[in-house]
Amino acid sequence: MSLSKLLGAVSVASFLAAPAFAQDYPARQITMVVPFSAGGPTDTVGRLVAERMSADLGQQVIVENVGGAGGTLGAGQVAKAEPDGYTVLLHHIGMATAETLYRNLAYETLDAFDYVGLVTDVPMVIVARRDFEPADFPAFVDYVKANADSITMANAGIGAASHLCGMLFMQALDVPLVTVPYKGTGPAMTDLLGGQVDIMCDQTTNTTQQIKGGTIKAYAVTTPERLDVFPDLPTVVEAGMPSLEVAIWHGIYTPKGTPAEVNQRLSQALQSALADEGVIKAMADLGTAPVAAERATPEALKAHLEAEIARWQPVIETAGVYAD
Ligand code: ASP
Repeated sequence: MSLSKLLGAVSVASFLAAPAFAQDYPARQITMVVPFSAGGPTDTVGRLVAERMSADLGQQVIVENVGGAGGTLGAGQVAKAEPDGYTVLLHHIGMATAETLYRNLAYETLDAFDYVGLVTDVPMVIVARRDFEPADFPAFVDYVKANADSITMANAGIGAASHLCGMLFMQALDVPLVTVPYKGTGPAMTDLLGGQVDIMCDQTTNTTQQIKGGTIKAYAVTTPERLDVFPDLPTVVEAGMPSLEVAIWHGIYTPKGTPAEVNQRLSQALQSALADEGVIKAMADLGTAPVAAERATPEALKAHLEAEIARWQPVIETAGVYAD
């Protein structure tokens, strides 16, 4: 057979193989990379949906934690993975902010991934170690301004949601604080509980049980409305700091080149997980809720990521904060 005929036969074979591959999908276990430590808020969301997606897909979706560099290490690992539907990434708003924060990112965010869908928008809470002195949010703001040299603020690295919220907080107060980076806010919470760091912004998916248990102090939520789980906590908007309003949206991605049928199948499994009573209840207990089914789609996530990159770019450039 001539080379051109051979190449023709190969491409026809791969063309014919693609739909069959998608029909058989998934034939084995799927790895969901969470780009932060185990035990943190992104991990909590990942494990909740992975379990229910496994039931729908008939194959295990196992979570692998790849923390570090504000989520960019885990995202970079998925960007390089085989686009076969067996490696997915569950990430949050950091997917959009890292694009500007890192001038030497190892991947092109809008070129390196395909999309499955949005998952949940999680509020953040500004919290402190339990014996932090101020009694309420106005007193907290005054205290932080007056003691800026000695207060430490934990985050999960540049590009993390906690970093973004902390950056907005420091900008609003016009004070720099000493920041302490972790591979996720799971370990940061351990240090907050132990009193090794003073304050942090973190998703309700990590802070709710601790706030209710009285093991940390909470000062304000970053949503425009108060939360059902904490009706007594003021919002940053009420407190006159609307620039701190931020919701930590989460999405699921696949490496660029993943067959469209596979992304659709994953999106269907995601929608089924988000409609599950147990998932809805678990999220409600953690101060959040699944997105509506029409947002748990590849198109909605792609549009949202593009809009969020455009939204945060000028904010980050004004702050002049970069990872390099
Ligand atoms: N909450 C973390 C963040 O600041 C990430 C995590 O550990 O899930 O982005």
